[in-house]
Amino acid sequence: MVYIVSIIFGAIVGSFLNVCIFRLPKEESIVWPGSHCPQCKKSISFYDNIPLVSYILLKGKCRHCHGPISIQYPLIEGITALSSLVLFMRFGPSLSYLIYFAFVAALIVITVIDLYHQIIPDVISLPGIGVGLLASLILPQLTFFNSMIGCLLGGGSLFLVATLYQWLFKREGMGGGDVKLLAMIGAFLGWKAVILTILLGSLIGSVIGISIMVLKGKDFKYAIPFGPFLSLGAVISLFYGESVIQWYLYGNR
Ligand SMILES: [Zn+2]
Repeated sequence: MVYIVSIIFGAIVGSFLNVCIFRLPKEESIVWPGSHCPQCKKSISFYDNIPLVSYILLKGKCRHCHGPISIQYPLIEGITALSSLVLFMRFGPSLSYLIYFAFVAALIVITVIDLYHQIIPDVISLPGIGVGLLASLILPQLTFFNSMIGCLLGGGSLFLVATLYQWLFKREGMGGGDVKLLAMIGAFLGWKAVILTILLGSLIGSVIGISIMVLKGKDFKYAIPFGPFLSLGAVISLFYGESVIQWYLYGNR
């Protein structure tokens, strides 16, 4: 039963994340006005705005103009609901669950906005750094010192790489957004996991980046956003970081 509650809670949060994804890049308010159809501008009633359920009942079409509703809505709601369930199964009914769920929710918004617009909004990453540092005072898994080192190491190392890249290739490869994102990830996960996040993010990013270049015949100038890969690396580190680090330090001798 509690698992179902965590899924419903996740889907409702996911519905709010959709609003953030559409409105934050346009610098619109995320609370006003209410949801409306992007085609006919009619406002969407609460009974047509139930996460996941409404999309299925309306068969993906607006009730008024029958224009298509983006598959992104149920997709984000589904992913957020699943994240909530998995985190709840891992951390139980605790503050850790709520804090890490807020962290993953922020990563979901950042990932989708970065994919669409190649930007990472400061309004998420900068407060995120503060929340991560404060969360370390509550989280049993993380000390404040670890959180602070993680933040400095994450942001600092990427800042160095970005500066070096710009100096070598005379153009911007990574935005300041990635630096702030990694500082936020470090604040939430600590220094070991942030190193793992960089390694995983670079690895997955290179594999996918090279695949895109081979498949589409595009060159290195075709910049792919780094934020989604860092976010994915952070989620893997959150769940499996401890086991990967243990295996690396002690398991393979
Ligand atoms: Zn409509």
